[in-house]
Amino acid sequence: MASFQTPRGTVDYLPDKTPLWQKIERTARHIFELYNYQEIKTPIFESTDLFTSSIGGDTDIVSKEMYTFLDKKGRSLTLRPEGTAAIARAYIQHALHRKGNHHLLFYVGPMFRYERPQAGRFRQFTQIGVENIGSPDPACDAEVIIMGIKLFKTLGITDIVPQLNTVGCPICRPVIEERLKQFLESSLTALCGDCQTRFDTNPLRILDCKKNSCTPYFSAMPDIRQSICQSCHDHFDQVLTYLDTHGVTFEINPNLVRGLDYYNRTAFELVSKHLGSQNAVCGGGRYDSLISRLGGPSSPAVGFAFGMERLMALVNSDIPPVPMVYIGCLDPNQYSICFSLTHQLRDRGIKAINHLDALSTNGHLKRASKSNAAIPVIIQASGQCAIVYSSTPTSVPVTSLLAHLVELAPQHPMM
Ligand SMILES: [Zn+2]
Ligand SMILES: [Zn+2]
Repeated sequence: MASFQTPRGTVDYLPDKTPLWQKIERTARHIFELYNYQEIKTPIFESTDLFTSSIGGDTDIVSKEMYTFLDKKGRSLTLRPEGTAAIARAYIQHALHRKGNHHLLFYVGPMFRYERPQAGRFRQFTQIGVENIGSPDPACDAEVIIMGIKLFKTLGITDIVPQLNTVGCPICRPVIEERLKQFLESSLTALCGDCQTRFDTNPLRILDCKKNSCTPYFSAMPDIRQSICQSCHDHFDQVLTYLDTHGVTFEINPNLVRGLDYYNRTAFELVSKHLGSQNAVCGGGRYDSLISRLGGPSSPAVGFAFGMERLMALVNSDIPPVPMVYIGCLDPNQYSICFSLTHQLRDRGIKAINHLDALSTNGHLKRASKSNAAIPVIIQASGQCAIVYSSTPTSVPVTSLLAHLVELAPQHPMM
């Protein structure tokens, strides 16, 4: 029989990797809560229409990468390729705007894109993201950028730099696109098929093209900032001023547009120089008209998302284990003491395991070491006392063993 493997582009995380995963997720939750963001959970699949009408038909995501299927009633459903569209849908469906005019949300969950698998990039990947919904204020753009930087720095990635651009608004977008087309017109035949199609349907998307044959033509591109309206200009300036005020060093990247159509004004990536060419760990931007375009009230918003898998490769994986007590005994008559003591320790928040096999002292010490237990305890054959192997082996009467261990072993911290 053929041996089963994970489907192409997916990955198993075994117990040696999951502590790092938990550390990243815990840190993200901690930082988000510090900024008063609350968690929202939406389904893994949605109506296909939601994604085509929000992300945009000319994007790589919608045109090439979605996992779309018909259910048994013939409804077209799609495994979510990103998080924001579903949150906009939930915001409208549950009329969140009636419950306050500013909503700070975060999410954690798997997303699906049929992409060519490469290092740190999978077809099922986990995204962690935030959405700041209800305000056009440039302070919100700066806040999510600063929050992202704080998160990555807390995780030990100290060389994070935000790269920013503005992609204009519905008023100035036609001007931006016209300038872009004028610039690219003479080299159009040298660009790839996708770029040629996008030249007519969605010129700004051309800047998403990562093909080596196309990117040289983008290098001397006219800066989008020369084509934006005054109001977009002021907005972008204020975002930069807020970042400056907070001492954030940033870079302007005039070719940064992000691969989603719903962005307007601020688009940004958080970049780590450690990552080589694909150096963004996090991307985001403002999407002022997404919610109204999907049928909701006018709700300007800004957010970001990052992929867990790419981050796993960057974060230091040395996580000290929580000290654990190991209880063993030399005589089967002491199994019940072993069993009950282990549970009493857990009731007091102390991480503990037992081994109900009457091994020799050496046998137990080997087992304890294999289980990474920091504090082996061996109940002696008489059942009267136990040897606790902390810094030096100490004999402790069984009657006071619990109190002794509670004193000795640290409490397992609440997640
Ligand atoms: Zn504008
Ligand atoms: Zn191209």
